[in-house]
Amino acid sequence: MDIYASLKNIVGESNVSNSQEELFIYSRDSGAQPSRKADYVVMPKTTEEVQKVVTLANAEKVPITPLGGGFTLSALVVPNRGGIVLDMKRMDKIIEVNPISRYALIEAGVSQAALQAYLKKNHPHLQHSTPEAPPTVTVVGNALIQGHGHISPRYGVNSDMINGMEVVLPTGEICKIGSSSVSPYWFTRGPLPDLPGLFIGWFGTTGIVTRLSMKLYPKPKYREVMAFQTDDVDGLPDAICEVTQLDLLEDYFLIMQEKPEWMNHIFHIVIVSGHSEEELEFKKSAFKGMFKKFKGGDTVQYVEDLHPTLEKRFLDVPPLAALAADFKKGGGFEYTGAILPIDKVGEAWKKGLEISQKYGIFSSYVHQVLTCHSVMFGFNYSFNRADDKDIEITREALEEANRLSLELGGMIWKGELGAQKMTMEKMDPNTAQLIQKVKKMLDPNGIMNPGNWEI
Ligand SMILES: Cc1cc2nc3c(=O)[nH]c(=O)nc-3n(C[C@H](O)[C@H](O)[C@H](O)COP(=O)(O)OP(=O)(O)OC[C@H]3O[C@@H](n4cnc5c(N)ncnc54)[C@H](O)[C@@H]3O)c2cc1C
Repeated sequence: MDIYASLKNIVGESNVSNSQEELFIYSRDSGAQPSRKADYVVMPKTTEEVQKVVTLANAEKVPITPLGGGFTLSALVVPNRGGIVLDMKRMDKIIEVNPISRYALIEAGVSQAALQAYLKKNHPHLQHSTPEAPPTVTVVGNALIQGHGHISPRYGVNSDMINGMEVVLPTGEICKIGSSSVSPYWFTRGPLPDLPGLFIGWFGTTGIVTRLSMKLYPKPKYREVMAFQTDDVDGLPDAICEVTQLDLLEDYFLIMQEKPEWMNHIFHIVIVSGHSEEELEFKKSAFKGMFKKFKGGDTVQYVEDLHPTLEKRFLDVPPLAALAADFKKGGGFEYTGAILPIDKVGEAWKKGLEISQKYGIFSSYVHQVLTCHSVMFGFNYSFNRADDKDIEITREALEEANRLSLELGGMIWKGELGAQKMTMEKMDPNTAQLIQKVKKMLDPNGIMNPGNWEI
């Protein structure tokens, strides 16, 4: 069968491509993983078009890799077995914002920047949880990989904010999940069997999400960045516990950078917000008071004159991480995010530095505390994309960092194929089998982003 001609009939000639120069772009990402070839790129506009593409792919056993912004950096949208890359960016409608029940119903291609701009213009008192990622990344892609945003320390990871979704199953049925399966409102995922879990964390192997309802939150008028400096790595778990125990945070990072010299310390970056100046002042003095008492007041110091660049970096939503990430100016960046228990942060910090030193990699560390239960610990590596040796070293360092995350009792976040394999090898075998059974049940022909979460 002429797949290209069939795809052209579904989405129109200008929305499908098999030309080499376009496939080149879709066959790689800006991380350190090797390129792998896509055969077709398809950009659908409607759920019905997605359904037709999926039905065709299922009948002809052609792999499909759904793509949002394509910025996980771990090649999750680079096809492992060729086939169709389904680029969702044309499905870019913000369908509805319910300002009273506080949710936004959006299509899969809506970018973080588009939702942020829409809310700023039409509902300035509301916000969604925005990741540090480049603004073109999609809200849906981020939520589906259990990403996190600037209010996650307060409200939880972004996948917890999903109220429901519309999904095209690998066999072509269109399915509504959450309250929208029963009611016209997309306001909650329960009380029902928790079906969103069949599509969250699966890297597009169980279906294609075409619409999603995301929770929105009140947006405080005032926001301020505070920094506290320390060299006490072993004291980090207790310090994090004290900071989160106050229950007054909006966002919270731990950062360190070898250069410039003044940044070669650990900084607790505490971001506070308030609906009034009094609320803001109360929160600021609570954090200052807490650190003044912490371990007798000797180990953590409040930074009076925070460097304006650092202040701006964390005041902006999203912060300027995309520029900071390319600190080597070689255009390549990959980080493995480890979701770690807070107790292990000090150990991970020391061992993470040892890995960077072993591979001679200039390192910067940014770790976001997610709620008061875990930390997203990023082992960040910037590399020169034109230098094969540099890429190879980065891959080795990433692998070692992933192994370390598991050894410390943590979880690898958005891992590339090797990291997924590492996780599956450590996993309870019955759980690993359950994952295979669920995939097989939903996707009997194994067409959905094959290679991911496979034993
Ligand atoms: C500098 C930098 C900073 C970053 N900071 C953060 C951060 O603070 N927080 C954070 O969470 N992430 C961060 N990231 C990681 C990543 O960029 C984001 O999580 C991003 O939001 C992922 O969304 P995406 O649209 O690029 O997803 P994609 O890479 O396009 O997709 C992610 C996965 O979901 C699948 N998928 C995509 N769309 C669909 C769909 N419609 N249906 C089914 N499956 C689908 C894909 O197949 C893939 O497996 C950062 C990245 C960079 C480069």
